[in-house]
Amino acid sequence: MWRNKMSDNKACSCCGDTVELAINNKDINKCPICNQFGKTVKNTTVKHLVKAEFSDSVGGMNYLICMNEDCDTVYYSKNKEIHFSQKQVKVPIWFKKDADPKYACYCSEVTIDQVKEAVRDKGARKMKDVLAITGAMKNSNCEVKNPLGVCCHERIQQGIDEALAE
Ligand SMILES: [Zn+2]
Repeated sequence: MWRNKMSDNKACSCCGDTVELAINNKDINKCPICNQFGKTVKNTTVKHLVKAEFSDSVGGMNYLICMNEDCDTVYYSKNKEIHFSQKQVKVPIWFKKDADPKYACYCSEVTIDQVKEAVRDKGARKMKDVLAITGAMKNSNCEVKNPLGVCCHERIQQGIDEALAE
């Protein structure tokens, strides 16, 4: 399903625009390093995004991702026995403070700066303008390209909103 091409640039082909991740408030979901709550990420996403030399240690379970910008941990298992740091993952994690570049759309490698620039300098006002200008979400494959395993749509919209508010 996530391989479907977008038909009209209005909504993401992989998930529409109803992206939601459950944040579970149980301690079990806390990052073993910084002790903040993480979000659930599918096994297939983790398997694709850890560097090849670590993929064997991923196993078959789902993971959590640490959302703390200051914490170096990216993925960790619920039993906390396995965790992967930023260096062990193939892509910069956009919400971590040293991420460079900060991608908004991982599938088409469009950065948040390119999204904002489309709004600031190229007259984009809506999602479809930004997608047309930047080429974001052209080849949506968010499940294995986006570190959260979710559609980039929401992040792009955030970038648009931020640029419009400036
Ligand atoms: Zn953490």
